[in-house]
Amino acid sequence: MDDLPADGPGTPPLSGMSLDAMRDFLVAMDEPPYRAKQVFQAVQQRGQLDPTDMTALPIALRQRMAEQLTPALALIEEQASDDGTTKFLFELADGKRVETVLIPEGDRNTVCVSSQVGCPIRCVFCASGVEGLIRNLTTAEIAEQLLLVRARLGERPSHVVLMGMGEPLLNLDALADAIRLWTNRDGMGFSPRRITVSTAGTPSKVDRLIELELGVNLAISLHAPDDETRARLVPGSPKGRTADLVEAGTRFARKTGRDVTVEYVLMAGENDQPQHAERLAQLVVGRHIHVNLIPLNPVSHQPDLQAPSGNACHRFVNILRDRHVSVTLRTQRGEDIAAACGQLAMERSLGE
Ligand code: SAH
Repeated sequence: MDDLPADGPGTPPLSGMSLDAMRDFLVAMDEPPYRAKQVFQAVQQRGQLDPTDMTALPIALRQRMAEQLTPALALIEEQASDDGTTKFLFELADGKRVETVLIPEGDRNTVCVSSQVGCPIRCVFCASGVEGLIRNLTTAEIAEQLLLVRARLGERPSHVVLMGMGEPLLNLDALADAIRLWTNRDGMGFSPRRITVSTAGTPSKVDRLIELELGVNLAISLHAPDDETRARLVPGSPKGRTADLVEAGTRFARKTGRDVTVEYVLMAGENDQPQHAERLAQLVVGRHIHVNLIPLNPVSHQPDLQAPSGNACHRFVNILRDRHVSVTLRTQRGEDIAAACGQLAMERSLGE
């Protein structure tokens, strides 16, 4: 699972530029270096992606910048669900599309961000991998999703989860730069503790995330308690022992001092039986791991896959609880607008 090169344009859009990159860019335009911070703050603190809006800058500079730069994303559709979940469909400069979802829940506003167009992992229950990986998103394309949703919301969202389209740890360099932009004190100042990177990936990628010391949380999309079941449900994940991935999660928890979440989509007859719960408990107990069970949200490309009954879900929960595993059962959001987990951008690309 090597990182693919990000397929971005030559000059990254403003939303992807670090303070240093912005300084280089402005100095090359014969501007004084102090302008860099002004522009950086306008973009990252106030979400101004159009240079003509930056009224603190001289008009001539605004115009010259506007001629050279275009935003990374264009909002082409916004759909609100009855429960307040809002789905944003963005078009990239090359015409590809990704989605970002805003999920309000009490006093939380969580933004679900995409990291790739398509996905190579091909979880059987997830729409993002149906057509495989198309390409990695650039730093700007990742960072700008949050800037735009924040502008739409009128305030800084409280949480970010990398649970949109794509496998974040296969685009880790671009993602890490986007996270550094969001968390920069001269920018949005987003707390990394409120950012969760979700992965179906490999132990070595988790170790690389540990080394980067970004301060973010980790969620591991396990979905199965043994190698055979996991190979069936998560066929695009590299071969390897499921236990090794859990072990990498434990290393992450020990190094960062924060518990790791294991995500487990429950599917009737596939991974919801008592013996699956027993094995899962053995795998995670005493390892600083919290298990989040997610009853399957049905997807049209796999009509045979179904969520277990409420009773079966609770039986699963109880087995884990009895074995002293910290566990929650998630409720589904945004189903009426196909913004629920695993449905992103599929309906449109399949022409439904
Ligand atoms: N590739 C990363 C990020 C994608 S988010 C990863 O696998 O972690 C993946 C999460 O979306 C899964 O863990 C699961 O919680 C959720 N998901 C995807 N499809 C789903 C479906 N059909 N029903 C319920 N949850 C789903």
